[in-house]
Amino acid sequence: MRQSRRIVVVGSSGTDMIIRVERIPRPGETLIGGEFAMAAGGKGANQAVSAARAGGDVTFVARVGRDNFGEQSIAGFVSDGIDVQHVLRDGKAPSGIALIFVAKDGENSIAVSSGANARLTPADVRRARSVFNGAAVLIVQLESPLATVQAAVSIAVRHGLQVILNPAPARALPDSLLRQVSILTPNETEAELLTGVKVNSDAAAAKASAILRRCGVQTVILTLGARGAFVATEGGTQLVSGFKVKAVDTTAAGDVFNGALAVALAEQRPLQQAVRFANAAAAIAVTRLGAQPSAPSRRQIERMLKSG
Ligand code: ADP
Repeated sequence: MRQSRRIVVVGSSGTDMIIRVERIPRPGETLIGGEFAMAAGGKGANQAVSAARAGGDVTFVARVGRDNFGEQSIAGFVSDGIDVQHVLRDGKAPSGIALIFVAKDGENSIAVSSGANARLTPADVRRARSVFNGAAVLIVQLESPLATVQAAVSIAVRHGLQVILNPAPARALPDSLLRQVSILTPNETEAELLTGVKVNSDAAAAKASAILRRCGVQTVILTLGARGAFVATEGGTQLVSGFKVKAVDTTAAGDVFNGALAVALAEQRPLQQAVRFANAAAAIAVTRLGAQPSAPSRRQIERMLKSG
């Protein structure tokens, strides 16, 4: 394997609790649902686990509650070989939880309790700054307080890391933050929220990316679901095609994409190759159920790369 430097992920961790139902219950209504399922989730954790399984050397900076959910999440990170020295146990808030109904027709309804994730502070990130030393890539998302995201990005820039900001869930962002981002990875919905451009064609993807680049982002990688990803750099734009698979559950496709992208960049692969690696990893993820359970191993990604 190639020389790979560390990846730092700063973000959320949580547990998804899912009940399958005939239809989404109405206000005041009690429905007897189908089977219950529980899976590790949270965008930060999904990306950290995806990067580790794709072959990255990963440190995760996060907060969980002092409860069973938090302990279970940490045990999962450890078994994936993630450095958890900076996953803090918060005595004042429970672990993040998402309660999810999935209806027969595929519609869903989700309530998230951020819990300890809302208490990840800039000071927590500063306390972890030694792990940025010599690292290659930072990945951040928007399930943590914006001040914390900003602190992580500033420290990363100071230490010379490439910064991947996955702007999910979508929210408006200050240009001062965007200017420090090496790679922004919105999906179509997030790109529309950030730019006002509805991404329904390659021309629209080019337009949205150009707007984001004008705000100061170096490179935009706009993920386009089954089509793959649209890449816009200083040097031009290109579509990097996705892999053909039978989609079963697209939960966390974007997370797996970001984790794998970071690994390829930490191995100093050229951008187009790194995006192809990320497309391969994410394509495998959509053939599997759940968030973290669907993140593929390095060997599986390499097999997919050979097939396409
Ligand atoms: P998100 O999951 O954040 O909504 P996308 O739907 O754009 O993001 O998916 C992220 C990436 O996952 C895509 O760029 C692509 O590589 C992969 N992907 C998503 N859906 C499919 C699919 N049906 N077939 C193959 N790859 C897919």
